[in-house]
Amino acid sequence: MSTDPVLRVALPVPLPRLFDYRVARADPALVGCRVQVPFGSRSLVGVVAEVGPPAVPDAELRPVEAVLDPVPLFHGELLASLRWLARYTHAPLGEVLATALPAALRRGEPLPEAVPWGWGLTEAGRTALPGLRAGRPRRLAERLAAGPVPEAVLAAEGEDWRAAARALARRGLAERVRCTADPVVSAASAPPVAAAPAPTPEQQAAIAAVRAAHGFAPLLLDGVTGSGKTEVYLQAIADCLARGRQALVLVPEIGLTPQTLARFRARLGVPVHVLHSGLNDGERARVWAAAWRGQARVVVGTRSAVFTPLPQAGLIVVDEEHDGSYKQQDGIRYHARDFALVRGKALEVPVLLGSATPSLESLHNAQAGRYAHLRLSRRAGGAQAPTVRVLDVRKRPLQAGLSPELLAAIEAALAEGGQVLVFRNRRGYAPVLLCHDCGWSAQCRRCSTPERGSALTVHGAGRRLQCHHCGARAPVPAACPACGGLALQPQGVGTERLEELLRARFAQVPVLRADRGSTRRRDALEALLARLGERPGILVGTQMLAKGHDLPHLTLVAVVGVDEGLFSADFRAGEKLAQLLVQVAGRAGRAQRPGTVVLQTHHPEHPLLRTLVHGGYHAFAEGELAQREAAGFPPFAHLALLRAEAKHAEPPLSFLSAARARFDGVAGVEVHGPLPAPMPRRAGLHRAQLLLAASARGALHAALDAALPTLHTLPEARRVRWSLDVDPVELT
Ligand code: ADP
Ligand code: ZN
Ligand code: ZN
Repeated sequence: MSTDPVLRVALPVPLPRLFDYRVARADPALVGCRVQVPFGSRSLVGVVAEVGPPAVPDAELRPVEAVLDPVPLFHGELLASLRWLARYTHAPLGEVLATALPAALRRGEPLPEAVPWGWGLTEAGRTALPGLRAGRPRRLAERLAAGPVPEAVLAAEGEDWRAAARALARRGLAERVRCTADPVVSAASAPPVAAAPAPTPEQQAAIAAVRAAHGFAPLLLDGVTGSGKTEVYLQAIADCLARGRQALVLVPEIGLTPQTLARFRARLGVPVHVLHSGLNDGERARVWAAAWRGQARVVVGTRSAVFTPLPQAGLIVVDEEHDGSYKQQDGIRYHARDFALVRGKALEVPVLLGSATPSLESLHNAQAGRYAHLRLSRRAGGAQAPTVRVLDVRKRPLQAGLSPELLAAIEAALAEGGQVLVFRNRRGYAPVLLCHDCGWSAQCRRCSTPERGSALTVHGAGRRLQCHHCGARAPVPAACPACGGLALQPQGVGTERLEELLRARFAQVPVLRADRGSTRRRDALEALLARLGERPGILVGTQMLAKGHDLPHLTLVAVVGVDEGLFSADFRAGEKLAQLLVQVAGRAGRAQRPGTVVLQTHHPEHPLLRTLVHGGYHAFAEGELAQREAAGFPPFAHLALLRAEAKHAEPPLSFLSAARARFDGVAGVEVHGPLPAPMPRRAGLHRAQLLLAASARGALHAALDAALPTLHTLPEARRVRWSLDVDPVELT
């Protein structure tokens, strides 16, 4: 009987097991290397998870096609943490490892070289340099005067070097070269360091707390907007660099602005590497490789940057730790903040979680003494906190949802030379198209059921219809499809309609709109804000404007149309709304000008608004935590959501019923459902869910460990697409 060691490979397929392959020499050092293997009629890239005896002795095994890495890509802490993540999310290890890799490496491309491509001046370039006209090409030529600079470094120093390099190359002044010495780590390539402001006593205490951490320490930096949290990060990162260690900074997608990066670059004096969805595959792989080699000292990135290898880790920062974009909503449903904490523990480094509106989970952990709680209670640099006014609009005449009092406040702010932000979290022209004759309204055919319709949003000044759930588009019909009448009317107000009204009403100032429709491209928002400059003007927008860019001339923030959020069934809706309101309000009066926030509502007495306005975010959070505890919701309970979807309504329910039988009677776990999802149909698929809740995390995971492998073998599983979401953020 042959039990000779084989390669046990983790493959990116939805089966909770490893796959065995033969190889000439099954060396244990191959663990963590990528291999190309045959799988059915396909060829897949996998990662060697184990070297050992085959699962089935004497089985006919196919040989690997190729070992792709000379040394393991995954090893040490990262491999161990990812194994943990696979167990925790109950996902196949192969899918977790594939998620952790940049796409190019997932496809099997080699790790980008350590000797990188860069740019250098030609002889002609050196001669021509003194005579070059001012501008980007000249600035780049000056940057290259001391010697070739790797592309990764140019990219880390600023976004716009490529066009300049091409311009120089066309004239024969610069060329693409291999850089032998790697200036990524050499001080010579470092941009100049800007001076840090003297920290306030509260900042000082926070910096000292990070400094005092030996090994793993979770720290919650709970500071109002503009209190100088970023300054604390910068100082903590500088300390980390001084100790010769790498720092990883996670930011939400909309928080990663050129402004933020420029600030990091100006202050840290080392190249800052960036990982975000706007990079191409090659760029992502290069940054990942630079971190893997320990060359990238500071990596700033969005959610998936949490998988960055950190062989010399010293610090992990999670900015805006409450932000919903840290949770991956499909595939491997990890939470980047939570995984950052797991990695910090394994790496034995401090993890600094910052927010003006910490998640209830983190506040609860801080109150229980599990996290150090660092508070920054005042704005830094002498800026004042904004005044908040609740504007009762019951019985008031509204124009595009705006009351006369609010319009007067906007007028006054503009007259004083200020800028105004009008916040409405609904993009499009109007949320509904209604027939005034018969009551018909435009619904998405692919997202509606007979019981529950899903309205199409009106766009394009009332000419187009669009589904915000599945992306379906249609023109607005000329007549009502139900009664043939001509009384079709857009109902309600989206950002486009607000923009239209404000343009007509305040024709003397620029009115600019920022939402996903108008600023799809990364730098579009930047360009929009540059157009506004320092002049009086109005910004209309969705939560895209709730954070990120510094808007120093903003004196008035008007919040309209939040009432629908006050009555949502989702247990997290209150928390999300409170965070959004506080974040938006925090945009007012960031510099020396005092700011005002006007909150327009039909429910001025609503407890959420009252508590928030009179007591602030922490008073709200305290009340909300008490309610969660009473109701047995997170963070006092642990949830897992089993979702299933199919073309017809029945298969998801029967799969979940069969699944439910595997959990019934398990001690310590409550099972709710199966029920149609709150959004019972999306993009043509019927959706249902089964909710598992437990007061002890261990009980929940024990139940999942026992049941999950058997779900794959249920006959009902073949008729649906199903997935498990541990610690779901959205119950939709
Ligand atoms: P946050 O990240 O909490 O929103 P920032 O770090 O961006 O706050 O700081 C807000 C503003 O205050 C920035 O313009 C920053 O330069 C300034 N600032 C921060 N700390 C200080 C300080 N100690 N002294 C003076 N200005 C400061
Ligand atoms: Zn009609
Ligand atoms: Zn739809």
